[in-house]
Amino acid sequence: MRFSLRKFVSYYKPYSGLFLSVLACTFIAAALSLLFPLLVRYVTKEVLAKDFTGGALTEVYMVGGLMLILVAIQNAGNYYADYKGHVVGARMERDMRSELFAHMQTLSFDFYDKQKTGQLMSRITNDLLLLSELYHHGPEDYVKSLVRFIGAFFILFQINASLTIAVFCFLPFMGYFALYFNKKLNKALTRNKERIGDVNAQTEDSLAGIRVVQSFANERLENGKFNRENGRFFESRTHTYKAEALFYNCFDTIIQLITVTVILCGSVQIADQRLDLADLITFLLCIGYMTEPVQRLTHMSTQLQEGVTGFQRFMEIMNLKPSIQNKPNAIVMTEAQGEIEFKQVSFRYGDRSNDVLTNLSLRVKPGEYVAIVGPSGAGKTTLCSLIPRFYDVTDGEVLLDGVDVRDIELGSLRRNVGFVLQDVYLFNGTILDNIRYGKPDASDEDIIAAAKHANAHEFIMSLPNGYRSEIGQRGVKLSGGQKQRLSIARVFLKNPPVLILDEATSALDNESESVIKASLEKLSRGRTTIVIAHRLSTIRTAQRIIVLTEDGIAEQGTHDALLDRSGTYAQLYAKQFEYQA
Ligand code: ADP
Ligand code: MG
Repeated sequence: MRFSLRKFVSYYKPYSGLFLSVLACTFIAAALSLLFPLLVRYVTKEVLAKDFTGGALTEVYMVGGLMLILVAIQNAGNYYADYKGHVVGARMERDMRSELFAHMQTLSFDFYDKQKTGQLMSRITNDLLLLSELYHHGPEDYVKSLVRFIGAFFILFQINASLTIAVFCFLPFMGYFALYFNKKLNKALTRNKERIGDVNAQTEDSLAGIRVVQSFANERLENGKFNRENGRFFESRTHTYKAEALFYNCFDTIIQLITVTVILCGSVQIADQRLDLADLITFLLCIGYMTEPVQRLTHMSTQLQEGVTGFQRFMEIMNLKPSIQNKPNAIVMTEAQGEIEFKQVSFRYGDRSNDVLTNLSLRVKPGEYVAIVGPSGAGKTTLCSLIPRFYDVTDGEVLLDGVDVRDIELGSLRRNVGFVLQDVYLFNGTILDNIRYGKPDASDEDIIAAAKHANAHEFIMSLPNGYRSEIGQRGVKLSGGQKQRLSIARVFLKNPPVLILDEATSALDNESESVIKASLEKLSRGRTTIVIAHRLSTIRTAQRIIVLTEDGIAEQGTHDALLDRSGTYAQLYAKQFEYQA
């Protein structure tokens, strides 16, 4: 993916004033730091060497005072740049993170079918962290390094050209060395990241499945898996430390070589009276100003690489268009009658080569109660997911009240359709919060009424904190039947004209099934309802039963009519009855 500098820089915009003040402070502090060796030179050369008798000491005190003032200004500048620089970076990071999260909320099911949640999480946390490092340290580091390097070069060159050139000869060598090691270090750091990712993945897997782990008494197995990943991470870090230690010490060796060279060549020149002691001291003080920026090249190029990769990964998602979107003049459908029609619908999932549904037509009247049965994998769930546009048809059309769902404003379309699924997803929080999810502006009274309709009120009141009880991560503190009743209350509150029940009672025991069946029956009253169920006993009362197989709709009719036909339904029914008996 191409890197767009324009886009990259645009994120500075809201904070450009603050950011420029940070750069200015960095510049001032770096420039002032150059005065230090110059003042030392002045004291040793002009004051102490020439006139050590009279008022020299007073002048030394004055220079000392000046140096203290410089120290104060320089460090105040660095403090400001350090503090506010990080704040600028953190603000940009916050903005980009919100933007990314908001964008992820708009992406459609097909995107999430392909992604791993853990990967997306690392984009939203780690990648942006690295990016904000580059955003604020990057320009700051360049300003500081350039000012100090160029400044020191000019000062030294003015003092003694030949010695400066001698020092300079080492620099390309150092630069090459820095970049060479940078590659090695980067590889090691990338491997570290992968390894810690594996440790995270293993931790997540084992902890999320802790109930399964303990029920099989497989703690030792899990420890083994974890220790393998932990050990690999350790090994990878050992390699990194070796590379780092080698790098920093080789570098220090070169810097010391430069110092030795300066002392040797300097002494020769002093003997020839082409240089004095004060200049040699200044020289030694200034070497660091020239070598440090070169040494930082490694760090800066790592920072640049990581930041740019982070930005590209950020833009990769930001540039994705949701596959399901509103048309420009989409119709807002406030309250549908609830007529649903599939017209010669064909559908296949993006990454599959075969159609799940082929040329399927079906009409459901407003308020009708229809059941869909058929073998697992026939496409029952898929069919229903086309109504609220979780996916768009590949061919044909789906109509709600005679309007193609692709012409209806998405939010209003989805407010017209309610789902009760086999897997209930509850959010961290209280019971009240979770029911209110069906209608965020509902009053507490509405919520209690919905809970009563869903036969949930009694069990909620028996909990220590009633409606304010925390349900634990994904509702671990509740039974399957209780979770399902909360999800039904949520749909009661939403009150949609179209209702889809997808295996809503399949995971429940007989007792909670009968309670929940009663509340689902209540819920379906006055709504167009499509029920998917594999327990055929639960759908006997449907006005119409549709038998969906991999070849499409095999037959439809009432329970009795279908049994009389002795077709697919009759076979399914006989088989299940036999199995249950
Ligand atoms: P049913 O609900 O009748 O059991 P589904 O509608 O869930 O069947 O699935 C129909 C077919 O589509 C199956 O072969 C299944 O593997 C496939 N399928 C379901 N969901 C997806 C998906 N998100 N991506 C790709 N294929 C899918
Ligand atoms: Mg299904």
